[in-house]
Amino acid sequence: MNTTVIRGLQNLLQTATRALTDAGIPDGRREAETLIAHLLDCTRLALYRADLPSLDSDQEKTFSDLIRRRANREPLQYILGTQEFWGLEFRVTTDTLIPRPETEMLIEAVLEQWGPPALPITLVDLCTGTGCLAVTLATLYPTARILATDLSPGALDVARSNTSRHGMTGRIEFLEGDLLKPLASIRLQGQVDLILANPPYIPASELDRLQPEVGLYEPRLALDGGPDGLDFYRRIFPRAIEFLRPGGRLFLEVGIRQAIPVRAMAEQIGWRVDRIKKDLSGIDRVVVLEKP
Ligand code: GLN
Repeated sequence: MNTTVIRGLQNLLQTATRALTDAGIPDGRREAETLIAHLLDCTRLALYRADLPSLDSDQEKTFSDLIRRRANREPLQYILGTQEFWGLEFRVTTDTLIPRPETEMLIEAVLEQWGPPALPITLVDLCTGTGCLAVTLATLYPTARILATDLSPGALDVARSNTSRHGMTGRIEFLEGDLLKPLASIRLQGQVDLILANPPYIPASELDRLQPEVGLYEPRLALDGGPDGLDFYRRIFPRAIEFLRPGGRLFLEVGIRQAIPVRAMAEQIGWRVDRIKKDLSGIDRVVVLEKP
């Protein structure tokens, strides 16, 4: 029976791989394996083991539904419901942007700044989305006070579920609203050590040219940065100055070719540029500013 099972699975995988490849997905084989492994709750490697149970007809139908969704270019992460960030698994839904590896540079930049945390610092994460930055920082800085804001109630639900998923319930104060606005009533003006944000930064004219996974499925609210993509930085700068203590830092993720204009805008209104960090593709990705 076992070799028959393997052959059956391999046939399914071959058909699925072809469907994904025809839909323009570069690594169709790996993704088909990932989806079938997800369904069988096993690793991709285990798909080649002789003692694997075969798919029953319901599972076969579910598998072909998942392949159809992926062939329609729905991101694999929305189908699986998760994405890894900084070694932790985060729940993702269409209410949230899917965490990107380059966003881990923000965590790296913060760690370079503060090293292992001794003091109880106050951090604010704007546009928290899945909460990947706030939750990761909660695990790294056990004594920090952490606040996170988002305009989207759906995203905040996901962020809260990621907080409990990683045992951080009670560590993060989630606030619904625009950027730093929800902090006004908490009286933190002049007291925040660190503000970080991965705001929407895609220029509006480029939204229709994004790859289908992004353009058709990820929330516009998390992508649209206005006519030149820089709207959010413009709005964050004056409010962040108000909330940071002198010497406090603002960590921003920026899009391709945005570091120079963001830096110029910041300097013009009195920020000191601390540093600009490149991502693994060599793109200037993180701008760190200091409130004088
Ligand atoms: N990094 C995302 C992308 O290029 C955009 C994220 C954002 O706008 N903050 O698809």
